[in-house]
Amino acid sequence: MLRLYKPIKDDDIFKLHKTLETLVCDVWCKADDKSFEEKLSDDLKSIIAYNCKVGVSFKSEIERIYNIFKGIDEPQKTKIIEAFKQAEQIKQLCDKSTKPLFLSDLHETVANDIKPLFKWCYEDLLEKQKVAGDKLKYYKKLIKQNKFKYCPCCGLIDFESDDDDNEVREAYDHYLPKSEFPFASVSFKNLVPLCYKCNSDRKKAKNPIENDRIAYYPFIDNPDSHSMEINSTFDLDLDENKDLILNNLEIILGGDKLKSDTWNWLFDIEDQYSRKIRRNAQSFLRDLKERYRNKLKLDSQAKFNDFLIEELVLYENDIYYDWRFLKIAIIKHLLTLKNYIAVYEK
Ligand SMILES: [Zn+2]
Repeated sequence: MLRLYKPIKDDDIFKLHKTLETLVCDVWCKADDKSFEEKLSDDLKSIIAYNCKVGVSFKSEIERIYNIFKGIDEPQKTKIIEAFKQAEQIKQLCDKSTKPLFLSDLHETVANDIKPLFKWCYEDLLEKQKVAGDKLKYYKKLIKQNKFKYCPCCGLIDFESDDDDNEVREAYDHYLPKSEFPFASVSFKNLVPLCYKCNSDRKKAKNPIENDRIAYYPFIDNPDSHSMEINSTFDLDLDENKDLILNNLEIILGGDKLKSDTWNWLFDIEDQYSRKIRRNAQSFLRDLKERYRNKLKLDSQAKFNDFLIEELVLYENDIYYDWRFLKIAIIKHLLTLKNYIAVYEK
Protein backbone atom coordinates (compact mmCIF):
# COMPACT_ATOMS: atom_id res chain seq x y z
CA MET A 1 0.00 0.00 0.00
CA LEU A 2 1.35 3.38 -1.00
CA ARG A 3 -0.45 4.96 1.97
CA LEU A 4 -2.36 3.62 4.96
CA TYR A 5 -5.55 4.92 6.53
CA LYS A 6 -5.70 6.29 10.03
CA PRO A 7 -8.79 4.42 11.25
CA ILE A 8 -12.00 5.93 12.59
CA LYS A 9 -12.36 4.86 16.22
CA ASP A 10 -16.10 4.97 16.64
CA ASP A 11 -18.99 4.92 14.20
CA ASP A 12 -22.49 3.45 14.00
CA ILE A 13 -21.34 1.39 11.04
CA PHE A 14 -19.40 -0.90 13.43
CA LYS A 15 -22.62 -1.98 15.17
CA LEU A 16 -23.85 -4.61 12.71
CA HIS A 17 -20.68 -6.65 13.17
CA LYS A 18 -21.22 -6.58 16.95
CA THR A 19 -24.83 -7.67 16.44
CA LEU A 20 -23.69 -10.61 14.31
CA GLU A 21 -21.12 -11.49 16.96
CA THR A 22 -23.94 -12.03 19.45
CA LEU A 23 -25.77 -14.14 16.85
CA VAL A 24 -22.77 -16.43 16.26
CA CYS A 25 -21.30 -16.59 19.76
CA ASP A 26 -24.35 -16.22 22.03
CA VAL A 27 -27.16 -17.72 19.96
CA TRP A 28 -25.88 -20.36 17.52
CA CYS A 29 -22.84 -21.53 19.49
CA LYS A 30 -25.02 -21.84 22.61
CA ALA A 31 -27.77 -23.77 20.81
CA ASP A 32 -29.61 -26.13 23.19
CA ASP A 33 -33.14 -27.40 23.78
CA LYS A 34 -34.40 -23.95 24.71
CA SER A 35 -35.93 -21.65 22.13
CA PHE A 36 -33.46 -19.56 20.10
CA GLU A 37 -35.71 -16.52 20.55
CA GLU A 38 -34.83 -16.24 24.25
CA LYS A 39 -31.20 -15.77 23.28
CA LEU A 40 -31.70 -12.95 20.75
CA SER A 41 -30.34 -9.53 21.70
CA ASP A 42 -32.54 -6.44 21.23
CA ASP A 43 -30.43 -5.41 18.23
CA LEU A 44 -31.11 -8.77 16.60
CA LYS A 45 -34.81 -8.65 17.44
CA SER A 46 -35.06 -5.31 15.63
CA ILE A 47 -33.90 -6.77 12.29
CA ILE A 48 -35.16 -10.38 12.20
CA ALA A 49 -38.36 -9.55 10.34
CA TYR A 50 -36.50 -8.62 7.12
CA ASN A 51 -36.51 -11.17 4.32
CA CYS A 52 -33.09 -12.54 3.44
CA LYS A 53 -34.40 -14.52 0.48
CA VAL A 54 -37.71 -14.37 -1.34
CA GLY A 55 -40.30 -15.55 1.16
CA VAL A 56 -37.68 -16.39 3.83
CA SER A 57 -37.24 -14.15 6.86
CA PHE A 58 -33.92 -13.55 8.63
CA LYS A 59 -35.63 -14.99 11.70
CA SER A 60 -36.42 -18.31 10.04
CA GLU A 61 -32.84 -18.59 8.69
CA ILE A 62 -31.51 -17.92 12.21
CA GLU A 63 -33.75 -20.69 13.52
CA ARG A 64 -32.78 -23.16 10.76
CA ILE A 65 -29.06 -22.59 11.48
CA TYR A 66 -29.73 -22.76 15.25
CA ASN A 67 -31.10 -26.26 14.74
CA ILE A 68 -28.00 -27.26 12.75
CA PHE A 69 -25.79 -25.96 15.62
CA LYS A 70 -27.54 -28.30 18.05
CA GLY A 71 -25.67 -31.11 16.29
CA ILE A 72 -22.23 -29.42 16.21
CA ASP A 73 -19.74 -30.54 18.88
CA GLU A 74 -18.01 -28.17 21.35
CA PRO A 75 -14.52 -28.16 19.75
CA GLN A 76 -16.10 -27.18 16.40
CA LYS A 77 -18.08 -24.41 18.08
CA THR A 78 -14.96 -23.11 19.83
CA LYS A 79 -13.26 -22.92 16.44
CA ILE A 80 -16.21 -21.00 14.98
CA ILE A 81 -16.08 -18.50 17.86
CA GLU A 82 -12.33 -18.10 17.35
CA ALA A 83 -12.86 -17.58 13.60
CA PHE A 84 -15.42 -14.88 14.39
CA LYS A 85 -13.00 -13.10 16.75
CA GLN A 86 -10.42 -13.14 13.93
CA ALA A 87 -12.69 -10.85 11.89
CA GLU A 88 -11.53 -8.07 14.26
CA GLN A 89 -7.88 -9.17 14.10
CA ILE A 90 -7.19 -8.49 10.43
CA LYS A 91 -3.91 -6.75 11.24
CA GLN A 92 -2.62 -9.78 13.15
CA LEU A 93 -3.70 -12.07 10.30
CA CYS A 94 -1.91 -9.83 7.77
CA ASP A 95 1.39 -9.89 9.67
CA LYS A 96 1.01 -13.57 10.62
CA SER A 97 1.05 -13.01 14.37
CA THR A 98 -2.28 -14.87 14.47
CA LYS A 99 -2.74 -18.14 12.60
CA PRO A 100 -5.77 -17.74 10.32
CA LEU A 101 -8.73 -20.09 10.38
CA PHE A 102 -9.81 -20.60 6.79
CA LEU A 103 -13.27 -21.64 5.67
CA SER A 104 -12.10 -25.22 5.11
CA ASP A 105 -11.03 -25.41 8.80
CA LEU A 106 -14.61 -24.79 9.97
CA HIS A 107 -17.82 -26.84 10.14
CA GLU A 108 -19.51 -26.91 6.72
CA THR A 109 -22.51 -24.90 7.91
CA VAL A 110 -20.29 -21.79 7.91
CA ALA A 111 -19.71 -22.10 4.15
CA ASN A 112 -23.13 -23.45 3.25
CA ASP A 113 -25.46 -21.41 5.45
CA ILE A 114 -23.73 -18.56 7.28
CA LYS A 115 -21.65 -17.26 4.37
CA PRO A 116 -24.64 -16.47 2.08
CA LEU A 117 -26.54 -15.01 5.03
CA PHE A 118 -23.70 -12.64 5.99
CA LYS A 119 -23.28 -11.65 2.34
CA TRP A 120 -26.92 -10.59 2.45
CA CYS A 121 -26.23 -8.63 5.68
CA TYR A 122 -23.52 -6.65 3.85
CA GLU A 123 -25.28 -6.21 0.53
CA ASP A 124 -28.78 -5.61 1.80
CA LEU A 125 -29.06 -4.76 5.49
CA LEU A 126 -26.14 -2.34 5.44
CA GLU A 127 -26.41 -1.11 1.86
CA LYS A 128 -30.09 -0.26 2.15
CA GLN A 129 -29.59 1.25 5.60
CA LYS A 130 -31.91 -1.09 7.42
CA VAL A 131 -29.42 -0.99 10.30
CA ALA A 132 -27.36 1.75 11.94
CA GLY A 133 -24.42 3.04 9.94
CA ASP A 134 -24.10 4.66 6.54
CA LYS A 135 -21.41 3.61 4.05
CA LEU A 136 -21.30 7.04 2.37
CA LYS A 137 -21.05 9.01 5.62
CA TYR A 138 -18.37 6.68 6.98
CA TYR A 139 -16.45 6.94 3.68
CA LYS A 140 -16.46 10.75 3.91
CA LYS A 141 -15.34 10.64 7.53
CA LEU A 142 -12.42 8.40 6.61
CA ILE A 143 -11.41 10.55 3.61
CA LYS A 144 -11.72 13.77 5.59
CA GLN A 145 -9.56 12.41 8.40
CA ASN A 146 -6.90 11.13 6.00
CA LYS A 147 -7.11 13.96 3.44
CA PHE A 148 -6.84 11.45 0.59
CA LYS A 149 -7.35 12.84 -2.90
CA TYR A 150 -6.13 9.70 -4.65
CA CYS A 151 -6.50 5.98 -4.05
CA PRO A 152 -4.14 5.14 -1.15
CA CYS A 153 -3.34 1.77 -2.67
CA CYS A 154 -2.07 2.84 -6.12
CA GLY A 155 -1.87 6.63 -5.71
CA LEU A 156 -2.96 7.09 -9.33
CA ILE A 157 -6.74 7.33 -9.39
CA ASP A 158 -8.72 10.39 -8.25
CA PHE A 159 -10.83 9.62 -5.21
CA GLU A 160 -14.38 10.83 -4.64
CA SER A 161 -14.26 13.85 -2.35
CA ASP A 162 -15.76 14.29 1.10
CA ASP A 163 -17.75 17.37 -0.06
CA ASP A 164 -21.14 17.63 1.64
CA ASP A 165 -22.97 17.64 -1.70
CA ASN A 166 -21.14 14.61 -3.12
CA GLU A 167 -23.45 11.60 -3.15
CA VAL A 168 -20.84 9.27 -4.65
CA ARG A 169 -18.15 7.27 -2.89
CA GLU A 170 -15.49 4.73 -3.76
CA ALA A 171 -16.25 1.03 -3.39
CA TYR A 172 -15.29 -0.87 -0.25
CA ASP A 173 -12.87 -3.70 -0.76
CA HIS A 174 -13.16 -6.74 1.51
CA TYR A 175 -9.41 -6.83 2.14
CA LEU A 176 -9.62 -10.44 3.30
CA PRO A 177 -12.21 -11.74 0.81
CA LYS A 178 -15.64 -12.47 2.24
CA SER A 179 -15.69 -15.67 0.18
CA GLU A 180 -12.91 -17.07 2.41
CA PHE A 181 -13.60 -15.02 5.59
CA PRO A 182 -17.41 -14.73 5.80
CA PHE A 183 -17.25 -13.53 9.43
CA ALA A 184 -15.39 -10.44 8.17
CA SER A 185 -18.19 -9.56 5.73
CA VAL A 186 -19.38 -6.55 7.74
CA SER A 187 -16.23 -5.94 9.81
CA PHE A 188 -14.98 -2.42 9.09
CA LYS A 189 -11.56 -3.55 10.23
CA ASN A 190 -11.63 -5.45 6.94
CA LEU A 191 -13.50 -3.01 4.71
CA VAL A 192 -11.33 -0.46 2.97
CA PRO A 193 -12.22 2.08 0.27
CA LEU A 194 -10.06 1.50 -2.80
CA CYS A 195 -10.36 2.73 -6.38
CA TYR A 196 -12.27 0.63 -8.91
CA LYS A 197 -9.04 -0.30 -10.70
CA CYS A 198 -7.41 -1.68 -7.57
CA ASN A 199 -10.57 -3.25 -6.20
CA SER A 200 -12.44 -4.63 -9.22
CA ASP A 201 -9.91 -4.80 -12.04
CA ARG A 202 -6.78 -5.93 -10.22
CA LYS A 203 -7.41 -7.53 -6.83
CA LYS A 204 -10.81 -9.16 -7.37
CA ALA A 205 -11.16 -11.99 -4.80
CA LYS A 206 -7.43 -12.56 -4.26
CA ASN A 207 -6.60 -13.43 -0.68
CA PRO A 208 -3.69 -11.35 0.74
CA ILE A 209 -2.71 -14.07 3.21
CA GLU A 210 -3.03 -17.18 1.09
CA ASN A 211 -0.05 -19.58 0.98
CA ASP A 212 1.49 -18.11 4.13
CA ARG A 213 1.85 -14.63 2.62
CA ILE A 214 2.15 -11.55 4.81
CA ALA A 215 0.53 -8.29 3.74
CA TYR A 216 0.27 -4.61 4.58
CA TYR A 217 -2.76 -3.94 6.74
CA PRO A 218 -4.55 -0.88 5.26
CA PHE A 219 -5.08 0.87 8.62
CA ILE A 220 -2.47 2.24 11.01
CA ASP A 221 -2.73 4.57 14.02
CA ASN A 222 0.23 6.63 12.89
CA PRO A 223 0.06 6.80 9.08
CA ASP A 224 3.08 9.13 8.85
CA SER A 225 5.24 6.25 10.01
CA HIS A 226 4.47 4.44 6.74
CA SER A 227 6.36 5.68 3.71
CA MET A 228 6.89 3.78 0.52
CA GLU A 229 9.90 4.51 -1.60
CA ILE A 230 9.38 3.85 -5.31
CA ASN A 231 12.41 3.71 -7.60
CA SER A 232 12.78 3.15 -11.31
CA THR A 233 15.51 2.31 -13.78
CA PHE A 234 15.39 2.77 -17.55
CA ASP A 235 17.43 3.63 -20.64
CA LEU A 236 16.83 6.74 -22.71
CA ASP A 237 16.86 6.84 -26.48
CA LEU A 238 15.75 9.26 -29.19
CA ASP A 239 12.81 8.42 -31.42
CA GLU A 240 12.46 9.41 -35.11
CA ASN A 241 11.26 12.91 -34.06
CA LYS A 242 14.29 13.34 -31.80
CA ASP A 243 12.01 13.07 -28.80
CA LEU A 244 13.35 11.18 -25.83
CA ILE A 245 11.86 7.74 -25.26
CA LEU A 246 12.24 5.56 -22.27
CA ASN A 247 13.16 1.88 -22.66
CA ASN A 248 13.68 -1.16 -20.43
CA LEU A 249 11.73 0.42 -17.59
CA GLU A 250 11.81 -1.37 -14.26
CA ILE A 251 9.91 -0.39 -11.13
CA ILE A 252 11.43 -1.16 -7.73
CA LEU A 253 9.05 -1.09 -4.77
CA GLY A 254 10.53 -0.22 -1.37
CA GLY A 255 9.06 -0.93 2.05
CA ASP A 256 8.91 -4.35 3.67
CA LYS A 257 10.07 -6.82 1.00
CA LEU A 258 7.47 -9.55 1.63
CA LYS A 259 4.57 -7.16 2.20
CA SER A 260 5.44 -5.14 -0.90
CA ASP A 261 5.59 -8.37 -2.87
CA THR A 262 2.02 -9.15 -1.75
CA TRP A 263 0.92 -5.57 -2.53
CA ASN A 264 2.31 -6.00 -6.03
CA TRP A 265 0.73 -9.43 -6.48
CA LEU A 266 -2.69 -8.25 -5.27
CA PHE A 267 -2.90 -5.06 -7.29
CA ASP A 268 -0.32 -5.45 -10.14
CA ILE A 269 1.38 -2.33 -8.81
CA GLU A 270 4.57 -2.58 -10.88
CA ASP A 271 2.45 -3.06 -13.97
CA GLN A 272 0.20 -0.10 -13.10
CA TYR A 273 3.25 2.13 -12.46
CA SER A 274 5.09 0.99 -15.61
CA ARG A 275 2.07 1.79 -17.75
CA LYS A 276 1.60 5.16 -16.11
CA ILE A 277 5.24 6.10 -16.67
CA ARG A 278 5.44 4.75 -20.23
CA ARG A 279 2.30 6.61 -21.27
CA ASN A 280 3.37 9.90 -19.74
CA ALA A 281 7.17 9.90 -19.79
CA GLN A 282 7.56 11.64 -23.11
CA SER A 283 5.36 14.63 -22.18
CA PHE A 284 6.98 14.76 -18.77
CA LEU A 285 10.51 14.78 -20.23
CA ARG A 286 9.48 17.40 -22.79
CA ASP A 287 8.09 19.55 -19.93
CA LEU A 288 11.32 19.22 -17.99
CA LYS A 289 13.31 20.23 -21.08
CA GLU A 290 11.06 23.24 -21.65
CA ARG A 291 11.33 24.43 -18.07
CA TYR A 292 15.10 24.00 -18.12
CA ARG A 293 15.29 26.05 -21.35
CA ASN A 294 13.29 28.82 -19.64
CA LYS A 295 15.63 28.71 -16.71
CA LEU A 296 18.60 29.09 -19.06
CA LYS A 297 17.07 32.32 -20.39
CA LEU A 298 17.36 33.79 -16.90
CA ASP A 299 20.66 32.16 -16.02
CA SER A 300 22.76 30.98 -18.93
CA GLN A 301 25.08 29.09 -16.55
CA ALA A 302 22.28 27.00 -14.94
CA LYS A 303 23.24 23.34 -14.74
CA PHE A 304 20.67 20.74 -15.73
CA ASN A 305 21.73 18.61 -12.79
CA ASP A 306 20.96 21.45 -10.34
CA PHE A 307 17.67 22.12 -12.09
CA LEU A 308 16.64 18.47 -11.59
CA ILE A 309 17.53 18.62 -7.91
CA GLU A 310 15.37 21.77 -7.53
CA GLU A 311 12.51 19.90 -9.22
CA LEU A 312 12.96 17.01 -6.81
CA VAL A 313 12.74 19.32 -3.80
CA LEU A 314 9.59 20.86 -5.23
CA TYR A 315 7.92 17.48 -5.81
CA GLU A 316 8.89 16.17 -2.41
CA ASN A 317 6.71 18.88 -0.81
CA ASP A 318 3.61 16.96 -1.82
CA ILE A 319 4.63 13.62 -3.24
CA TYR A 320 1.11 12.23 -3.62
CA TYR A 321 -0.21 15.05 -5.82
CA ASP A 322 -0.53 14.20 -9.52
CA TRP A 323 1.66 11.01 -9.48
CA ARG A 324 4.65 12.98 -8.21
CA PHE A 325 5.99 9.94 -6.36
CA LEU A 326 6.59 8.39 -9.80
CA LYS A 327 7.98 11.62 -11.27
CA ILE A 328 10.45 11.61 -8.38
CA ALA A 329 11.45 8.05 -9.32
CA ILE A 330 12.04 9.21 -12.92
CA ILE A 331 14.11 12.25 -11.90
CA LYS A 332 16.22 10.25 -9.46
CA HIS A 333 17.19 7.86 -12.23
CA LEU A 334 17.74 10.73 -14.71
CA LEU A 335 20.29 12.16 -12.28
CA THR A 336 22.32 8.97 -12.65
CA LEU A 337 22.28 9.15 -16.46
CA LYS A 338 25.23 11.47 -17.02
CA ASN A 339 25.00 11.25 -20.83
CA TYR A 340 21.46 12.47 -20.72
CA ILE A 341 22.40 15.43 -18.57
CA ALA A 342 25.27 16.29 -20.92
CA VAL A 343 22.86 16.30 -23.92
CA TYR A 344 20.68 18.83 -22.17
CA GLU A 345 23.39 21.16 -21.13
CA LYS A 346 24.54 21.66 -24.72
ZN1 LIG B 1 -6.10 2.29 -6.73
